[in-house]
Amino acid sequence: MADSMADDQVPGKPLPEPTAVSAPYWAAVDDGELRMQHCADCSGWTFPPSTRCRHCAAGEPHWRPVAGTGELLTWSVVHQAPYPSYGPDTPYVVAVVRLDEGPQLMANLLDADEGALAIGARVRVVFEERAPGHRVPQFVLA
Ligand SMILES: [Zn+2]
Repeated sequence: MADSMADDQVPGKPLPEPTAVSAPYWAAVDDGELRMQHCADCSGWTFPPSTRCRHCAAGEPHWRPVAGTGELLTWSVVHQAPYPSYGPDTPYVVAVVRLDEGPQLMANLLDADEGALAIGARVRVVFEERAPGHRVPQFVLA
């Protein structure tokens, strides 16, 4: 444990732990780009990353950039932080977003006024730097 850490210092938020399958996703995110797997056989998108297309089970879906824009499908407001590092953010919004290309993902919706949220609201991706060179995708209202 970090003995040198000041008493009032909050440990950092968790970082992604890429696997062999998800490593291209996280490498793109670290570069500030959202990429998802696309199937040449059925044109379906696969997310989370997989070795097979989630629609037709074809192998080796290839990585393709997505625009990072989409709509708010649903959300939840977190008032009690699950980890001390999230305490300063409360209350914050955890959202499920459907990208314009089709795939869905869960992320935080930053700087969101709860009263302004609506199903179908337009959102766009932003990249939060969690550690030098390492980012996570988050969303904001567009
Ligand atoms: Zn497919």
